Amino acid sequence: MLYRRSPFSQLRAILLRHPSAIITGTVLLTVIMLALFATVIMQARTAAADRAAETSANLALVIERDVTRTFQYTDLSLQAFSQRVLDPEIMRMPTYYRHQALFDRATTTGKYLGAMLYVNEHGKIVEDSGAGQPRSGAFDDRSWFQAHKDNPNVGLYISAPFYSRLRGDDPSLGLSRRVNHADGSFAGVVVAAIRLEYFRHLMSGIELGAHGSVALMRPDGTLVMRFPANGSVIGRSLKGTDNFDHFAATGEKTFFGSGGTDGERRLYVFRKFAEFPMLVRVAPGVKDIYASWQRHSLYIAIFVLLLAGALVTMAVFLSLEFRHRLKIETDLRLLSRTDSLTGLNNRRTLDGSLKYEWNRMKRSKRPMSVLFIDIDRFKMFNDTYGHQAGDDALTAVAQAIAGCVQRPSDTAARFGGEEFVVILPETGATGALSIATAVHQAVRALQIEHAGSEHRTMTVSIGVATSGDMAIVSADDLMHAADKALYSAKQAGRNTTVVAADEEK
Ligand code: GH3
Ligand code: MG
Ligand code: MG
Repeated sequence: MLYRRSPFSQLRAILLRHPSAIITGTVLLTVIMLALFATVIMQARTAAADRAAETSANLALVIERDVTRTFQYTDLSLQAFSQRVLDPEIMRMPTYYRHQALFDRATTTGKYLGAMLYVNEHGKIVEDSGAGQPRSGAFDDRSWFQAHKDNPNVGLYISAPFYSRLRGDDPSLGLSRRVNHADGSFAGVVVAAIRLEYFRHLMSGIELGAHGSVALMRPDGTLVMRFPANGSVIGRSLKGTDNFDHFAATGEKTFFGSGGTDGERRLYVFRKFAEFPMLVRVAPGVKDIYASWQRHSLYIAIFVLLLAGALVTMAVFLSLEFRHRLKIETDLRLLSRTDSLTGLNNRRTLDGSLKYEWNRMKRSKRPMSVLFIDIDRFKMFNDTYGHQAGDDALTAVAQAIAGCVQRPSDTAARFGGEEFVVILPETGATGALSIATAVHQAVRALQIEHAGSEHRTMTVSIGVATSGDMAIVSADDLMHAADKALYSAKQAGRNTTVVAADEEK
């Protein structure tokens, strides 16, 4: 059966090998989270701009419709006026009735219409809605007069704003139509003045934010009204300003730009009138468009950044803690496997290794050997030199034994007291004997004085056993054989090695 590890234990295995993966992973997730957040914020910003453009376009449409309706009413009155003004029947009527017939009350009594005049071909007022006896004034220099005089096909003419001569320089706009004699020749002009106050009133009701502006102009850029007003509009043209020129050149109706006079960044939305040669421009300030977005984004950004910081900090702590635990775990595992005095493997590890190597040997059929090593006359050593010196000597001998064991699969362990065991996998009797010889040499090379020993120096006795013998059928048998060989080595005068097989013969 195929053994599959759960994703959780796989993750744990990765973290055990690389505790810093906690930080890497968290940082990666945090970066993804921040990127997502940034995308959402930028989308909200675009949405705010789209909404402002839509609102401005709607506003422009409403302004267009209001102004168009006013112009249409005025034009209807002008058309009627222009047709009747040369009617001899009407012109013969007394002033009161003549005015009733000539002027549409709905237009002339409105508070935003200045006056309706008929000016003859010499520029002199003939009929005046504002006075029974026409006021005097010459208008042959006005642009609208010249326009109609020069061209019979102008239709309705919308003039640039001017100061009214009849009404104390009241800023006005002229709507005019040509009057023709029966033969089609020029008979003068009918003109209605619309007070600019009408446009100001129309725009002043609009809530556009502190930095926005609305403007009405002729297609050539001549300003009719701007709100909020910055100076007089009479004689002013937007031609030459970046935003108007951009619109005029590209026809682009919605774009961001900076105000020519105040440098304020705005979203400019232009709209051409369908019926009249007029333009309306609604321009909310960028500061106002993004104000609420900015406030909300700031709060969310602070929150998200704090969250990201907390996440990464937590990951760093977690990783450090994990590393710390891992080290403790490793140390503990080592402690549980090693002997505290000598640093060699302990008895428990020895038992494990022995079983493991025995099973491996059974499969591979290659012999394994065991050395049983015992220090000679160690009781005497303790008695002579003291327990501390005994401990030091024990450690030195252990190091000497460890130095003779080279292969990674070899195991040197303290069996107990002053006894050691070396497991030599895939090693026959000859190999084992050569290791034993090396151990004798290494211990002798320590040159530890031992007055109580017949050899006068620190020596060991070694029993060697090798698998393959018919009598040895288990790991215990192998150890037992080595132990017996060790006993023989002691009998043989110590400081020597006896190989179990030898002894059998
Ligand atoms: P033999 O040559 O027959 O092995 O004689 P021996 O004295 O070495 O053997 P015996 O088993 O009589 O004595 C072993 C002594 O080893 C007993 C004990 O005092 C000493 N010993 C065992 N463990 C330690 C230890 O951890 N430190 C010290 N200093 N001595 C130990
Ligand atoms: Mg002993
Ligand atoms: Mg001994």
